[in-house]
Amino acid sequence: AGARDFALPEDEAKAAWEADRQHLLHPWTNFASFKERGSFLVSGARGVHVYDTTGRQYLDGMAGLWCVNLGYGREDIVEAIADQARRMPYFTPFVDVGSLPAADLAKEIARIAPGDLNHVFFTCGGSTANDSAVRLIHFYHALRGKKDKRRLLVQMDSYHGSTYLTHSMSGRHTARSPLLNFETEMVQTLRSPNTYRRPEGMDEAGFLDLLISEMEERILSLGADTIAAFFAEPLMGAGGVIVPPRGYHARVQGLCRKYDILYVSDEVVTGFGRLGHFFASAEHFGLEPDIIISAKGITSGYQPLGAVIYSDRMQAVLNAAPEEAWFTNGFTYSGHPVVCAAALATIRAMEAEDICGHVRENGPKFETALKSLLDIDIVGDVRGSHFMMCVEAVADQKTKELFAPKADVGHRIADHAHELGLIARSIGNLIVLSPPLIFTEDHIAETAATLREAITRTRADLKADGFL
Ligand code: PMP
Repeated sequence: AGARDFALPEDEAKAAWEADRQHLLHPWTNFASFKERGSFLVSGARGVHVYDTTGRQYLDGMAGLWCVNLGYGREDIVEAIADQARRMPYFTPFVDVGSLPAADLAKEIARIAPGDLNHVFFTCGGSTANDSAVRLIHFYHALRGKKDKRRLLVQMDSYHGSTYLTHSMSGRHTARSPLLNFETEMVQTLRSPNTYRRPEGMDEAGFLDLLISEMEERILSLGADTIAAFFAEPLMGAGGVIVPPRGYHARVQGLCRKYDILYVSDEVVTGFGRLGHFFASAEHFGLEPDIIISAKGITSGYQPLGAVIYSDRMQAVLNAAPEEAWFTNGFTYSGHPVVCAAALATIRAMEAEDICGHVRENGPKFETALKSLLDIDIVGDVRGSHFMMCVEAVADQKTKELFAPKADVGHRIADHAHELGLIARSIGNLIVLSPPLIFTEDHIAETAATLREAITRTRADLKADGFL
């Protein structure tokens, strides 16, 4: 298949665009710009490319939305999905009934997860996994006789999802839509560990000390016996690919241990190979979390799946629950057989093709290629790790001053990249890149060159419009 197979007759393409505009409410809609621009509709995809309705090809620098890790058009995953749908598309997963793919996948996840994380609860995506983790944590502490341990420590700039609770747990985005989050004492937001935007005049070590002492003060002032868990992405994604100072994870984990607070590592983006390992927590960051949250890459985006992966230590407490204590949490599609079949095929392919090894070898090349953009004077920072990167645009490299929001610098860069055939995602003044993990050196070079041209064109526009 190629461009021609995915092109639609002009009237059909227009009708689809109109149907979308008239009837579909998209996730995270900005109504003003949507009314004007409508949607960019993708009609097909192969490998690392997607195609629009005219058949035009784009290099997908985002792997869909940080998820199509193995690329598009994988017959092995497609076949696994079709085969399971034919055999048995669905049966209830509730209470004490189940299906073979869910059982197989649970065992596989226990095998690839670090330490004693040998148990899993399946959901329909990352938000519902984080939401379920909170309920599991409250249940766990209550069983231990610690009913007051209910508060959650989260970080400014984090993203944990879009259910009411997980949105309220998400630092940055909550601020954008104050109508759409709980104002709850249960969620306690800590300072963002953004090393690039640390207080002026402070070095990285001083910044780390500040983060840790603020966290400990918060724990002590609230009372450790009221705090259930700390939630964090090991490397923040949607909040702007934020890299905490060196040594941050170990010291936070130390505090969690000291105060009997569960450490939840949200690996929805960092997991399944993006940083060169099935899970980044242990192998990349030296963490031993109590819970890992997974989604996205777990099926390479071919089916919707989330997972709460938790420890033997927690399971021992759950196993001792009295007869009347039910864990009343679960979804019709928890452990959906077809979805689990897609995840099993994904894990098989990742191991057979040593995808993690490919990322460990090529991820650093991606970092180097993008870091070369720092010679453009409106690029303030290029950060991230392996195939999870971000370019931060600034008006002044030295002072790190931002462009006025009206300049819309992120959109401008993403739009130019789009015109040049590269899908990159803008978040405010940031351009985020999270390509399929099968990216080769040629794709890496193409991405960096296209982005350079997009930023150079944006710079010229900003100058012409008086922003520079
Ligand atoms: N956690 C993280 C770290 C995420 O990046 C996301 C999605 N971008 C979520 C949770 C929510 O996952 P979902 O959209 O599948 O509900």
